[in-house]
Amino acid sequence: MNEEIRVPVSLPLDSDGFLRRECPTCGREFKWFSHEEGDADAEAVDQYFCPLCGVASGTDSWWTPAQLEYMQGVSGPAIDQLARDMIADAFKGLKFKPNRSFSLDIQTPDPLAEPDDMTIVEPPCHPNEPVKVPDEDAARVHCLVCGSLFSA
Ligand SMILES: [Zn+2]
Ligand SMILES: [Zn+2]
Repeated sequence: MNEEIRVPVSLPLDSDGFLRRECPTCGREFKWFSHEEGDADAEAVDQYFCPLCGVASGTDSWWTPAQLEYMQGVSGPAIDQLARDMIADAFKGLKFKPNRSFSLDIQTPDPLAEPDDMTIVEPPCHPNEPVKVPDEDAARVHCLVCGSLFSA
Protein backbone atom coordinates (compact mmCIF):
# COMPACT_ATOMS: atom_id res chain seq x y z
CA MET A 1 0.00 0.00 0.00
CA ASN A 2 1.70 3.19 -1.10
CA GLU A 3 -1.09 5.61 -0.38
CA GLU A 4 -0.06 8.25 2.04
CA ILE A 5 -2.50 8.99 4.77
CA ARG A 6 -2.53 12.53 6.07
CA VAL A 7 -4.82 13.26 8.93
CA PRO A 8 -5.09 16.82 10.13
CA VAL A 9 -4.98 16.80 13.89
CA SER A 10 -5.50 19.90 15.92
CA LEU A 11 -4.02 19.91 19.36
CA PRO A 12 -5.52 22.22 21.96
CA LEU A 13 -3.76 25.43 22.93
CA ASP A 14 -4.27 27.12 26.27
CA SER A 15 -6.11 30.44 26.36
CA ASP A 16 -2.85 32.35 25.72
CA GLY A 17 -2.17 30.33 22.56
CA PHE A 18 0.54 28.06 24.01
CA LEU A 19 1.09 24.40 23.11
CA ARG A 20 2.28 21.88 25.72
CA ARG A 21 5.59 20.19 24.90
CA GLU A 22 7.77 17.55 26.49
CA CYS A 23 11.55 17.68 26.29
CA PRO A 24 13.03 14.43 24.87
CA THR A 25 16.20 15.05 26.91
CA CYS A 26 15.02 15.95 30.43
CA GLY A 27 11.48 14.62 30.06
CA ARG A 28 9.95 17.72 31.60
CA GLU A 29 7.01 19.68 30.24
CA PHE A 30 6.84 23.32 29.21
CA LYS A 31 4.87 25.21 26.55
CA TRP A 32 5.83 27.20 23.53
CA PHE A 33 3.83 29.81 21.71
CA SER A 34 1.99 28.41 18.71
CA HIS A 35 2.28 30.91 15.87
CA GLU A 36 -0.36 31.02 13.17
CA GLU A 37 0.75 29.33 9.98
CA GLY A 38 2.73 31.81 7.88
CA ASP A 39 3.24 34.20 10.81
CA ALA A 40 6.24 36.36 9.86
CA ASP A 41 7.08 36.60 13.55
CA ALA A 42 7.77 32.88 13.86
CA GLU A 43 11.42 31.89 13.81
CA ALA A 44 12.33 29.42 11.07
CA VAL A 45 14.52 26.92 12.90
CA ASP A 46 15.46 23.31 12.44
CA GLN A 47 15.85 22.67 16.15
CA TYR A 48 14.60 24.08 19.44
CA PHE A 49 16.36 24.42 22.78
CA CYS A 50 14.63 23.10 25.86
CA PRO A 51 13.84 26.10 28.12
CA LEU A 52 14.44 23.91 31.16
CA CYS A 53 17.64 21.94 30.45
CA GLY A 54 18.95 23.89 27.43
CA VAL A 55 19.52 20.81 25.23
CA ALA A 56 18.47 21.19 21.57
CA SER A 57 16.35 18.68 19.64
CA GLY A 58 14.71 18.58 16.21
CA THR A 59 11.45 20.47 15.77
CA ASP A 60 9.38 17.28 15.66
CA SER A 61 10.63 15.62 18.85
CA TRP A 62 8.65 17.51 21.47
CA TRP A 63 5.31 15.63 21.58
CA THR A 64 3.94 14.72 24.98
CA PRO A 65 2.83 11.08 25.40
CA ALA A 66 -0.79 12.28 25.60
CA GLN A 67 -0.45 14.12 22.27
CA LEU A 68 1.09 11.09 20.55
CA GLU A 69 -1.64 8.84 21.87
CA TYR A 70 -4.28 11.32 20.77
CA MET A 71 -2.84 11.67 17.26
CA GLN A 72 -2.75 7.91 16.88
CA GLY A 73 -6.36 7.71 18.00
CA VAL A 74 -7.48 10.44 15.61
CA SER A 75 -5.84 8.82 12.60
CA GLY A 76 -7.68 5.56 13.31
CA PRO A 77 -11.02 6.49 11.69
CA ALA A 78 -9.21 7.87 8.61
CA ILE A 79 -7.37 4.57 8.18
CA ASP A 80 -10.69 2.81 8.65
CA GLN A 81 -12.25 4.90 5.86
CA LEU A 82 -9.29 4.28 3.56
CA ALA A 83 -9.57 0.53 4.10
CA ARG A 84 -13.27 0.68 3.22
CA ASP A 85 -12.55 2.71 0.06
CA MET A 86 -9.88 0.26 -1.04
CA ILE A 87 -12.20 -2.68 -0.58
CA ALA A 88 -14.98 -0.88 -2.49
CA ASP A 89 -12.45 -0.14 -5.27
CA ALA A 90 -11.24 -3.71 -5.40
CA PHE A 91 -14.78 -4.95 -5.88
CA LYS A 92 -15.78 -2.29 -8.42
CA GLY A 93 -17.28 -3.80 -11.58
CA LEU A 94 -17.85 -7.17 -9.99
CA LYS A 95 -21.31 -8.57 -9.70
CA PHE A 96 -21.30 -8.84 -5.95
CA LYS A 97 -20.83 -6.09 -3.43
CA PRO A 98 -18.72 -6.20 -0.32
CA ASN A 99 -20.44 -5.86 2.98
CA ARG A 100 -21.03 -2.12 3.34
CA SER A 101 -20.87 -2.27 7.07
CA PHE A 102 -17.27 -3.44 7.06
CA SER A 103 -15.34 -1.38 9.57
CA LEU A 104 -12.24 -1.70 11.66
CA ASP A 105 -14.34 -0.04 14.32
CA ILE A 106 -11.85 2.46 15.63
CA GLN A 107 -13.16 5.08 17.99
CA THR A 108 -12.13 8.72 17.91
CA PRO A 109 -10.63 9.71 21.24
CA ASP A 110 -11.99 12.53 23.35
CA PRO A 111 -10.34 15.87 22.60
CA LEU A 112 -7.42 16.81 24.79
CA ALA A 113 -7.89 19.65 27.24
CA GLU A 114 -5.19 22.21 27.87
CA PRO A 115 -5.17 23.84 31.33
CA ASP A 116 -3.90 27.38 31.82
CA ASP A 117 -0.92 26.57 33.98
CA MET A 118 2.74 27.69 34.04
CA THR A 119 4.33 31.15 33.81
CA ILE A 120 4.96 33.08 30.57
CA VAL A 121 8.56 34.17 30.08
CA GLU A 122 9.88 36.19 27.15
CA PRO A 123 13.51 35.72 26.15
CA PRO A 124 15.16 39.16 25.74
CA CYS A 125 17.07 37.81 22.72
CA HIS A 126 13.96 36.42 20.97
CA PRO A 127 10.88 38.15 22.48
CA ASN A 128 8.77 36.87 19.57
CA GLU A 129 9.17 33.30 20.88
CA PRO A 130 7.84 33.34 24.45
CA VAL A 131 7.60 30.10 26.45
CA LYS A 132 5.70 28.96 29.51
CA VAL A 133 7.59 27.10 32.22
CA PRO A 134 6.61 25.74 35.65
CA ASP A 135 6.58 28.65 38.14
CA GLU A 136 9.58 27.36 40.09
CA ASP A 137 11.69 27.27 36.91
CA ALA A 138 11.03 30.85 35.75
CA ALA A 139 14.24 32.15 37.34
CA ARG A 140 16.51 30.31 34.87
CA VAL A 141 15.17 29.72 31.38
CA HIS A 142 16.87 28.92 28.08
CA CYS A 143 15.73 30.66 24.90
CA LEU A 144 13.82 28.25 22.65
CA VAL A 145 15.52 29.60 19.54
CA CYS A 146 19.16 30.25 20.47
CA GLY A 147 19.49 28.46 23.82
CA SER A 148 20.90 31.40 25.75
CA LEU A 149 20.12 31.49 29.44
CA PHE A 150 18.06 34.33 30.89
CA SER A 151 15.97 34.99 33.95
CA ALA A 152 12.42 36.27 33.86
ZN1 LIG B 1 14.91 19.54 28.67
ZN1 LIG C 1 17.25 33.73 21.86
